[in-house]
Amino acid sequence: MTSIRRVLEGAWAKMDLDQRGQKRPREDEQGGGSAPPIPPGRALAFAVQGRLHRARAARLSLPHGPVDTPVFMPVGTQGTIKGITSEQMEALDFQIMLGNTYHLGNRPGCEVLKRAGGLHSFMRWPRNLLTDSGGFQMVSLLKLAQITEEGVQFQSPVDSSLMLLTPEKSIEYQNAIGADIMMALDDVVSATLPDRHRVEEATHRTFRWLDRCIKAHARPSEQNLFGIVQGGLHEDLRAVSLKGMIERDLPGYAIGGLSGGEEKDVFWRIVEQCTRPESGLPATKPRYLMGVGYPVDIVVCVALGVDMFDCVYPCRTARFGTAMVTHGLMRLKQREYAGDFRPIDEGCECYTCKNYTRAFLHSIVTKEATACHLVTLHNLHYMKALMTSMRKAILNDTFPDFVRTFLKHHFPATKDRSRGNSAAAPLKADPDGQQPPAKKRKVAADADTGRESGEKADEGKGNSGVQGAGVPPLWVKEALSVAGIDIGDMYEWRADIEGESKGQGRENG
Ligand SMILES: [Zn+2]
Repeated sequence: MTSIRRVLEGAWAKMDLDQRGQKRPREDEQGGGSAPPIPPGRALAFAVQGRLHRARAARLSLPHGPVDTPVFMPVGTQGTIKGITSEQMEALDFQIMLGNTYHLGNRPGCEVLKRAGGLHSFMRWPRNLLTDSGGFQMVSLLKLAQITEEGVQFQSPVDSSLMLLTPEKSIEYQNAIGADIMMALDDVVSATLPDRHRVEEATHRTFRWLDRCIKAHARPSEQNLFGIVQGGLHEDLRAVSLKGMIERDLPGYAIGGLSGGEEKDVFWRIVEQCTRPESGLPATKPRYLMGVGYPVDIVVCVALGVDMFDCVYPCRTARFGTAMVTHGLMRLKQREYAGDFRPIDEGCECYTCKNYTRAFLHSIVTKEATACHLVTLHNLHYMKALMTSMRKAILNDTFPDFVRTFLKHHFPATKDRSRGNSAAAPLKADPDGQQPPAKKRKVAADADTGRESGEKADEGKGNSGVQGAGVPPLWVKEALSVAGIDIGDMYEWRADIEGESKGQGRENG
């Protein structure tokens, strides 16, 4: 038997096919060897290729090719990233993106998608797709949505009739869309809801709905169903959820219910609990943190052992003319860029930076669709490059150095700033209203001087809440320390001005 298998595998390898007769996923350029073969009857294989403390670089094999992790997945709404074609997404080398089941179900609708042979061919995207259950969108977008044991009841935005999204319906939609990864319908509760009883009910209902999703799933050898760990901000409920999820032995898991405006200090501890060796999610399966997309948060959560992320933030902020750069954010609307003929980022290899100047972009941002398109391209390239750098650093055993360099750029007030780190600006809160503002603090702004954007130092409210100008919030230090990365020596830490930073709002709309 073994020798027959070996002969067969040799033949498959020669024909460049995997065991299912499908074209073998291509080798990729990012190191780590070839993609693990998908076992017969399954739709996923996962191989950890490198590890540094908790952080890991892995490769997922999915029906539409490999996905190298850690990975950021851009979010398409109507099956498209606003302003970007599928060909451009391929050129940016994204291997997976998200589609919104709720939006796709409204338009073009399941029947059209079925007739088109699924979303991949409908949108001409040959690589992997992940769809959410549709539940989150309903609860967040439709004020009248009500949760019952049967499902999420809502008023149709089209004709106001009462409709019901059940676990069975969600899976039927997602089976029709045909995404490589589908998310189970979960009972969504706001992260900041004080009612423990309601969170407890949701944790258990999520199991019952998951079991109905598993039963309804008609294409398990072509599509993967991921479960979502719930339990709010309660450690004991998270433990219950983790246990039940792991027992169901799904191909992968998501950490849900975060990025809802909770304290960052609580946020990272929940992520830490879910990725903890032994008691957390299994080391042999992919872990996806839903709705988290700020670079600082991503770097910390990769250090804690998360593999997959999604967020609308890089695309949404681009529409407001904000570019993501090494030192944080560049708001191209600002007048100082009117005569600046450099690209957004001189080190960036993206199409926008190779061809356009800050001055040009300044003249068209928030006015012309072209600007949205060009800044989105840059921001997606930035996210892709960030993830690739982390992956390489993990594979090369240099991840702690990567983290320190990354933080130095984002939070320049390091102890050694006299040695040339003062040129970068601290992260700015985005004025487009998408980020909850960190509260004003009486911080003696120990600021650098040569900041590019020329704003007041005490406005350096970071994406993640800022301790002082140019110093990361304490939670970053604590989370990294648990992840085995010590940055204690980098800054003058001030415990007395910590503790106000709020999390980002979940941005999956
Ligand atoms: Zn660029």
